[in-house]
Amino acid sequence: MSEAVVVGSGPNGLTAACLLAEQGISVTVIEAAERPGGGTRSTELTLPGLIHDECAAIHPMGVASPAFEALGLERYGVEWLWPEVDVAHPLDDGPGGAMYRSVERTAEGLGEDGPAWLSAFRANAEAFGELREEILGPIVHFPRRPLELARFGLPSLRSAESYARRFSTDRGRALFAGSAAHSFRPLSAPMSASIGTALITAGHAFGLPVARGGTQAIADALLGLAAGRGVTVETGRRIGDLGELGGPDLVLLDLAPQGVLELARGRLPGRIERAYRRYRYGPGSFKLDLAVEGGIPWKDEACRKAGTVHVGGSIEEIAIAEAEINRGRMPERPFVLVGQQYLADPSRSVGDLHPLWIYGHVPSAWPGDASDAILDQVERFAPGFRERIRATFTRSTLEFPRYNENYVNGDIAVGENSARQLLFRPRVGLDPYSTGMPGVFICSQATPPGGGVHGMCGWHAARRAIRHLERA
Ligand SMILES: Cc1cc2nc3c(=O)[nH]c(=O)nc-3n(C[C@H](O)[C@H](O)[C@H](O)COP(=O)(O)OP(=O)(O)OC[C@H]3O[C@@H](n4cnc5c(N)ncnc54)[C@H](O)[C@@H]3O)c2cc1C
Repeated sequence: MSEAVVVGSGPNGLTAACLLAEQGISVTVIEAAERPGGGTRSTELTLPGLIHDECAAIHPMGVASPAFEALGLERYGVEWLWPEVDVAHPLDDGPGGAMYRSVERTAEGLGEDGPAWLSAFRANAEAFGELREEILGPIVHFPRRPLELARFGLPSLRSAESYARRFSTDRGRALFAGSAAHSFRPLSAPMSASIGTALITAGHAFGLPVARGGTQAIADALLGLAAGRGVTVETGRRIGDLGELGGPDLVLLDLAPQGVLELARGRLPGRIERAYRRYRYGPGSFKLDLAVEGGIPWKDEACRKAGTVHVGGSIEEIAIAEAEINRGRMPERPFVLVGQQYLADPSRSVGDLHPLWIYGHVPSAWPGDASDAILDQVERFAPGFRERIRATFTRSTLEFPRYNENYVNGDIAVGENSARQLLFRPRVGLDPYSTGMPGVFICSQATPPGGGVHGMCGWHAARRAIRHLERA
């Protein structure tokens, strides 16, 4: 029987393990942390009974994932719950923007920008179900639907600022910019529109749900599935050298390129080692988990019903904040994401005490405490918010890598979303999952299709590994 070891138990590592085990391969997953799941763990971080998502919270890519669909995660307990409003974006002056799963309803709310929103996203959202397998994989491939793929992909080559010019109102531009800012890139950078267009398109096709009981439900489903296929999971064991693994037929590394370099210790072919050393990491995040009595008193009504609120004001203000963090400077008004998962999933609250998931974009390795800057941003659109906070948990850019060492210098996206790394990650080449070491593959979010809880990096890497075994 062939043997495989997967190092790291994030959603990509666990997806890879499930797929390998399905082929009759004996699989062991080895995880440094005491609890498996990587970015899909949920914990009572503030007060007893309040369930906080430690990392991932909102799952447009999870519900759309062909890998999760094929694995049948719903049968293992994942239940998606949608908020009434998917994304809200408050503004200082005038009504903010609101995004619903229905592209038509979103357009109706955007007034004179409604037709531009429809023309930007409706056709792509309708095609997304068919295109998702191609979009959620390596860029270099033989396209099955070239025309639809081109209509989806070509506008994404633009900068977010240039893409947003199709909208004429502040709220239309801001609603787009909030999603584009998920890239952590300056909004003037080439391809900085791409993550925004992908998220909005997926959101209109599948919505932005949360998982009942916390994102942990996704980890638990993958672990249940893996256990049923005979996978062994060892926790609390950090691997520092590939030599510790013995001689399995396959090794899949759910690690940042920096981790692969450490484990390989000179075994990588020179050109791949150089490419991994050149791999660039992006800005950092500062996370705040709060217990808030009565929730956030947003002035904007849509914000009170939204699963996700993008807090950063106008596109111009977001552009300044994102440019600053990319220059290594902490902005006075950072871009902030607020998750109100409890609105769709009340089981996470205790009475009128609700868990709030918030993070702000900060420079890479920024050592400070961004709590005040982040809270000020929310308070600006929700006066009286601070008075409702009953407990706080924070995680800085220095603490993130201690929690999960893939988050190099607090980069939760595990790699800068520059045009080069959006097209080719973790290196330029036809086989992004190959490390050049026979039988050893990289399967983390540093590979295509990149960040998010979708398992597709693990899915593609495992398929590649299985082909390697068949040829050996
Ligand atoms: C604050 C935050 C918010 C996020 N929000 C969202 C969101 O709303 N929606 C979404 O889809 N995504 C979100 N993400 C991103 C999502 O969590 C990641 O894209 C996803 O978890 C990546 O999965 P992965 O399997 O590649 O790696 P990870 O989940 O990072 O797992 C890697 C695992 O490898 C382990 N490991 C590392 N080194 C070693 C070693 N040497 N030996 C053994 N084990 C090791 C780590 O401990 C970790 O458990 C968020 C992330 C963060 C941090």
